[in-house]
Amino acid sequence: MRKNLVVAIDGYSSCGKSTLAKALAKKLGFIYIDSGAMYRAVTLYFIRNHVNVNDPEAVDYALGHIELNFHSQDYQSHITLNGEEVSEEIRQMPVSTTVSEVSANKKVRREMVKQQQRMGKSKNIVMDGRDIGTTVFPDAPVKFFMTADPKIRAERRFKELQSKGDTTTSLEDVFENLAHRDYADTTRKESPLTRADDAIILDNTDLTEAEQLDFALDMVHQQLP
Ligand code: C5P
Repeated sequence: MRKNLVVAIDGYSSCGKSTLAKALAKKLGFIYIDSGAMYRAVTLYFIRNHVNVNDPEAVDYALGHIELNFHSQDYQSHITLNGEEVSEEIRQMPVSTTVSEVSANKKVRREMVKQQQRMGKSKNIVMDGRDIGTTVFPDAPVKFFMTADPKIRAERRFKELQSKGDTTTSLEDVFENLAHRDYADTTRKESPLTRADDAIILDNTDLTEAEQLDFALDMVHQQLP
């Protein structure tokens, strides 16, 4: 098989992009890359180091001191920030409430897109995010655009946070955070979240994980060269 096939998955916050991306990667034997984790890890660095996202010099300096690496275990994607495993911390609310502001920054996006494109050069990958099919890999042979009812999305995410021991975040907090991120991600100037013309729409409001995987695999087999 050719080495640089990309399956691009974009969509709103918490509609199961990473669940589908991981399952697809496993079935296809591709590498899964969670581009959101990269923006989240940069955000964590900015929070910890009090980097002012509106100060271009501070952003440049910070980006020069951030090294991100992925390693995968059982098709779970783990990310390190300057050598430290941060996969859990980047999912918590302090990062979730700030990430859309950081990811709207032009310099941050330019650097992340460059790194993401490099990852797709020599490997077959499934990458999920907000601008994968439009900006990072506009020529990807298979693209999905995922959506689901906002209330269902909030409930799924809330359950996930609870299962990880978060007892302080309410369902309303989660709902508001998703609404805020959707709004910020779709209205920002730099590569906003939007469906690529050739992306397949996948609304999983009423689909089980197995059903959405079957649908996506069918599409992939039809469209991969
Ligand atoms: O995918 P996830 O929800 O973890 O992404 C967190 C945030 O990172 C998004 O709300 C968005 O602001 C940003 N993001 C982005 N472009 C991507 C992936 C994520 O702007 N390709």
